Amino acid sequence: MKNYLKSHNNKMSVQSNLNNIASQIPKHVTLVAVSKTKPISDIMEAYNAGHRVFGENKVQEMAEKHEQMPKDIEWHMIGHLQRNKVKYMASFVNLIHGVDSFKLLKEINKQATKHDRIINCLLQIKIAEEDSKFGMKAEDTSNILSSKEFSELKNINITGVMGMATFTDDTNQIKKEFSFLKHTFDTLKPLKSFNFKPEVISMGMSGDFKLAIDCGSTMVRVGSSIFGSRNYSN
Ligand SMILES: *Cc1c(COP(=O)(O)O)cnc(C)c1O
Repeated sequence: MKNYLKSHNNKMSVQSNLNNIASQIPKHVTLVAVSKTKPISDIMEAYNAGHRVFGENKVQEMAEKHEQMPKDIEWHMIGHLQRNKVKYMASFVNLIHGVDSFKLLKEINKQATKHDRIINCLLQIKIAEEDSKFGMKAEDTSNILSSKEFSELKNINITGVMGMATFTDDTNQIKKEFSFLKHTFDTLKPLKSFNFKPEVISMGMSGDFKLAIDCGSTMVRVGSSIFGSRNYSN
């Protein structure tokens, strides 16, 4: 049995962590509770406290959790996404944060059409200096959004952008990268159309969500500060 489907006895209180984070976030900012690797029992603690928005980074894990959990949960795919996995979540996913190519967007549109749905997506912009982080160049994004091919995708709705800052203690560096994402969002905004309705800037995690909000974030993705540190060894 997958570890994330087992129930552990977790002494730490997910609910009080959640309340603590929520109290630091203004009303206009959405909190995505990142539950990757965590068991359903932990996620249910957050659910029972009234939380409904959860983020996962693996399609299979998210699909299994979706299957077993209450159906009023909003599931966000926050991880790097392979095209061949889109079909496993197309029936229920609420927002896909990491769209980093037009090919992927086309596949999401295709699968959404099969389910007669419109799937919300964010374009992931590369803002970090590190090579390891995924994402599109800001200028490629504006080319996509203004293309004819994009206007033919009737079953997707781009609601904004997402970015991940460099993993560093250098606050100035992080601030620079978050500000760049906000700037990119502002630049793209005039390209608004029936399938590009810019509202969301998804940036900020446990270590930097306050800084991200100061830089204009409207959606933060917080995992370890709510559910505790993750154990990837099993
Ligand atoms: C895991 C993850 C997070 C949450 O990270 P924490 O530091 O645990 O808050 C946020 N965004 C993405 C894309 C992630 O993969």
